[in-house]
Amino acid sequence: MFALPVAAYMVQDQEAHAAQMERTFIAIKPDGVQRGLIAEIISRFEHKGFKLVAIKILVPSKEFAQKHYHDLKDRPFFNGLCAFLSSGPVVAMERESKYGRKLIGATDPQKSEPGTIRGDLAVVVGRNIIQGSDGPETAKDEINLWFKPQELVSYKSNAEKWIYE
Ligand code: ADP
Repeated sequence: MFALPVAAYMVQDQEAHAAQMERTFIAIKPDGVQRGLIAEIISRFEHKGFKLVAIKILVPSKEFAQKHYHDLKDRPFFNGLCAFLSSGPVVAMERESKYGRKLIGATDPQKSEPGTIRGDLAVVVGRNIIQGSDGPETAKDEINLWFKPQELVSYKSNAEKWIYE
């Protein structure tokens, strides 16, 4: 049996790692911020091992909220939802993560499993404290909407080799 040189292992590791990685946009909505849940929500992702790439706090304008939720523009709750998102500070993040939605839970907190962020910390659908991309394509659009390229930080996490094989 041949032993691969160390450099080859490293390339394999990097490829395996890259294959597992997706970028996700996450936002702690005004209810999560006002309820003092910023640290609790961030810690769920941090403890899981999903690397933080960008973070900021801002109050989105109504127009910005409409852009973010443009897919839902025909839904009866659209106006209320946009007014709500722009009603106070939002903590926006980009993370390297796979299966981030599993941590967040279902849209309706009453249908979210215990152990998920919404299942543990939220009660009703209109106050479900967190937003997370529902797939890699939406994630790209949302990251482009919320962050400028220079706001994204590129670095190697020392914990990566303990999280991914
Ligand atoms: P998710 O946030 O889980 O991706 P959607 O993109 O379908 O869900 O909806 C965006 C947000 O709109 C939800 O997080 C929730 O705050 C709100 N919303 C969804 N459905 C309803 C509803 N029936 N009534 C009120 N608000 C809703």
